[in-house]
Amino acid sequence: MSEQEVAERRVLVLTPTGRDAALACQILNQESMACHPCADDADLYKEIAVGAGAAILAEEAIHPWTVQRLLEVLARQGPWSDLPLIVFTRGTDSSESLLETLQPLGNATILERPVRLSTLLSTVKASLRARFRQYEVRDLLRRQAEADRRKDEFLALLGHELRNPLAAISNALSVLDEVGSQEERPMRQREVIKRQSRHLARMVDDLLDVSRVTLGKIILKRQPVDLGEVIDRCLTELGMAALAEGHRLDLAVRAQPVIVHGDPVRLEQVFCNLLQNAVKYTPRGGKLAVTVEAESGEGVVRVRDTGIGLSEEMAQRIFEPFTQVESSRQHSEGGLGLGLPLVRGLVEMHGGRVEAQSEGPSRGSEFIVRLPLLRSGQKARRLVRPDPAKAAPPPSGLHVLVVEDNEDGRESLRDLLEIWGHRVDLAENGPEGVKKALSLRPDVALIDIGLPLLDGNEVARDIRAVLPRGEIALIAMTGYGQPEDRRRALQAGFDTYLIKPVDPAVLARLLTEAGRSEEAPRSAVG
Ligand code: ADP
Repeated sequence: MSEQEVAERRVLVLTPTGRDAALACQILNQESMACHPCADDADLYKEIAVGAGAAILAEEAIHPWTVQRLLEVLARQGPWSDLPLIVFTRGTDSSESLLETLQPLGNATILERPVRLSTLLSTVKASLRARFRQYEVRDLLRRQAEADRRKDEFLALLGHELRNPLAAISNALSVLDEVGSQEERPMRQREVIKRQSRHLARMVDDLLDVSRVTLGKIILKRQPVDLGEVIDRCLTELGMAALAEGHRLDLAVRAQPVIVHGDPVRLEQVFCNLLQNAVKYTPRGGKLAVTVEAESGEGVVRVRDTGIGLSEEMAQRIFEPFTQVESSRQHSEGGLGLGLPLVRGLVEMHGGRVEAQSEGPSRGSEFIVRLPLLRSGQKARRLVRPDPAKAAPPPSGLHVLVVEDNEDGRESLRDLLEIWGHRVDLAENGPEGVKKALSLRPDVALIDIGLPLLDGNEVARDIRAVLPRGEIALIAMTGYGQPEDRRRALQAGFDTYLIKPVDPAVLARLLTEAGRSEEAPRSAVG
């Protein structure tokens, strides 16, 4: 038995005189129960924190502050803790008033003196047994919390690791778009790969975002936003017109300018999720309707479908992580049950709320999002995002160093950059990256963060120690998308931070900027 376990099986005894406590301990020791006589009440509080199976207190040793102090000590142990207290009283009269005093402690047993030995022993044994169970619950909770923490770490790692293969696939597709066959069938197959990798990328993002919302790690970048415009962008982003056509869905959108104070990227995530679900869970031939309206101080978006619907019970539960309606799995194209928890988390971070309504299974669903309206008079800033179709033609003639340990990612990026007309050098690890950057002096270095031997931030720091901004542009490409990762990268000397899989249009734009000016771009993208 460990020292800790021994302490947790002890009976603590507090009496006005040390002699009584020693006597009580002697009796318990004879029955093979460990015992600790407490010098005073401060000693009792201290020993409870160390570990205790039960405590025996004489009424005379209880001060007016004892109950409050005991409550504080036990509260610090957590909700599992309910230390059994056995209190010796002088007689019936004092028992009743004492019972009232001790009431907040809950788990106190009163024994009137003179106490029979058998009564004392059986009470102590029952108390120790109950306390042992409490410690078992504590250990279980600790193991669960530890498993939970490991699971969160695993999910973050998984998300990061999945982004590397996605980046390689996305680079390879961009290469094929440039040099691959333009015949219909190969083009159609490329579209399939593109769509499915976007789907995968979105699931990875959801996975990481849900844990960040739960841990309060998402910081909103708020500005006046027109909800109608956000919906428009979702529809374009998801290719909704084509999707609706493919599914033979009737898509109706009615939107008026409704301005809220929100993070445009996060709001887009909210409504894209709802729209995707509406398509996913509505069979062919169904109808989708989206409305955006202002109603009594709130911007209200309703996403309605005539799909598989929800039971009343599920309409409440689907916002919990990993919840899926069993019968809906055949429609789900493999979701993770994370979209709606993320929707709720993000909407609540905006001070809003979301609810699901349905008249029942196969009778369609309606998802309603309400967000506080911005005070009138403020105009929405137009949301600007590089449009791949209108992106500037990629610049050429730059010397680019790619530092990336994933071979497929490295090679596919090299091909893409060479097709764009750049000269490319490669490095597979940190030290090689620093060496080549310093000896070859490229215009731009694209650097992965999770590198062997020396990570990307250290690589940037070593390069920046010799080559200031203006002499080389440093662009981080990483699977680590958390705000603190970004901050660390920018502090290490990166000019820009891109999250994998990198959008080729964004990369092309950054290279254009790097090529246009000696001064490297300063913005953080991704
Ligand atoms: P996923 O779609 O990945 O399973 P979500 O969190 O987005 O995860 O949705 C959780 C569950 O809620 C889905 O599995 C589905 O059962 C149900 N659901 C979501 N949207 C709809 C909808 N528009 N109609 C019917 N059921 C829906």
